[in-house]
Amino acid sequence: MEFSYISHLECPKCHETYSENEINQLCKCGSPLLVRYRLHDVKANVQKEDIASRENSLWRYHEVLPVKDQANIVSLGEGMTPLVPLEKLGKKIDVPQLYLKDEGVIPTGTFKTRGASVGVSKAKEIGVKQLAMPTNGNAGSAWALYSAKADIKATIVMPKDAPKITRKEVAVAGAELYLVDGLISDAGKIVGGLIEKEGIYDASTLKEPYRIEGKKTMGYEIVEQLNWEVPDVILYPTGGGVGLIGIYKALLELKELGWISADKLPRLVAVQAEGCAPIVKAWQEGKRESEFWENSETAAFGINVPKAIGDFLVLEAIYETNGCGVAVSDEDLLQVQKEVAMTEGNFICPEGAATVAAAQMLRQQNWIKESDKVICLNTGQGIKYPDSVSLENIPLLQPNQPING
Ligand SMILES: *Cc1c(COP(=O)(O)O)cnc(C)c1O
Ligand SMILES: [Zn+2]
Repeated sequence: MEFSYISHLECPKCHETYSENEINQLCKCGSPLLVRYRLHDVKANVQKEDIASRENSLWRYHEVLPVKDQANIVSLGEGMTPLVPLEKLGKKIDVPQLYLKDEGVIPTGTFKTRGASVGVSKAKEIGVKQLAMPTNGNAGSAWALYSAKADIKATIVMPKDAPKITRKEVAVAGAELYLVDGLISDAGKIVGGLIEKEGIYDASTLKEPYRIEGKKTMGYEIVEQLNWEVPDVILYPTGGGVGLIGIYKALLELKELGWISADKLPRLVAVQAEGCAPIVKAWQEGKRESEFWENSETAAFGINVPKAIGDFLVLEAIYETNGCGVAVSDEDLLQVQKEVAMTEGNFICPEGAATVAAAQMLRQQNWIKESDKVICLNTGQGIKYPDSVSLENIPLLQPNQPING
């Protein structure tokens, strides 16, 4: 039995193949590369029931993860986050089977940790000593911390408006941090220039093939946690779209493994903010690729991505599963963030709140049926976004002053 059944890297556009033992970034045609496994051999050697007794982290799926030598794994215990029923809120919005896949309780406080754990582990395995990446904050903090553990030098470039806490996480990890007076797309250009000059590993979204492998484990977990049944709908806050591409990839792999029945996949929903909704717009127009979104702006900064390099893969996942795209206003998502805290006791991130707001909208349009099992992805912890809640009129007491009703 092998630890990993990785076979090779494949371009989803031109089908060129590459070795998993060397450093590879994009395909020569410019497309991101996807990791392929010998799923037939996994199917012959592993039963889904074997997984249940394994360690409580995403590495429980190691046969379908890219790291060959267990010694290269860089882990802080990430994964197997809870799938929490939102009973009160579900009743209120008439989605009785509403669940929250809660990534808020993962190390570093966002699901970016999944991509960092698998991405950094594989980088270590193929001999990377230095990497660089643009980020809206959360990916940078996760990659900086995991790189520190792996003894890899990390250079992180983020917009100056990215949340302060993520900057501090990068700094405390000892990574090299740069702020840019612009958007993540501007940070990306700066990293591109650095990579060209210095020949270091480009860890930008989808420019290395392994981050998506970490994020796909959300799909494996949702299915395992539902006792190897698929839900009807999964709503995902979509920026670069890696999580959605990953969940779709997981579902296809699970089908091929025979671990889920083959006739039904969940409808995948890409949720974006009204102030940055290039994928929703492309879906509404029936297109296969998105266009750059000018002057993007949203409080859900993790999904402020004006043009995603993997947009065609996100759109394919939506079309192939009869899913859809939904844009939510900042006002609505911040309102729902409060509502989730007040009804369910969970302070979720604005991106996660967008998926709950979208579920409510889709139920009102009857796109989601009352009988549907619906999973909202909360991609991060609300406490990483202290500014998403404003405090007004909080009484200040003197030490001996009683509270008078
Ligand atoms: C990065 C991020 C997203 C978007 O993730 P993608 O997989 O790149 O679309 C959503 N929510 C949070 C909190 C994020 O940090
Ligand atoms: Zn190609």
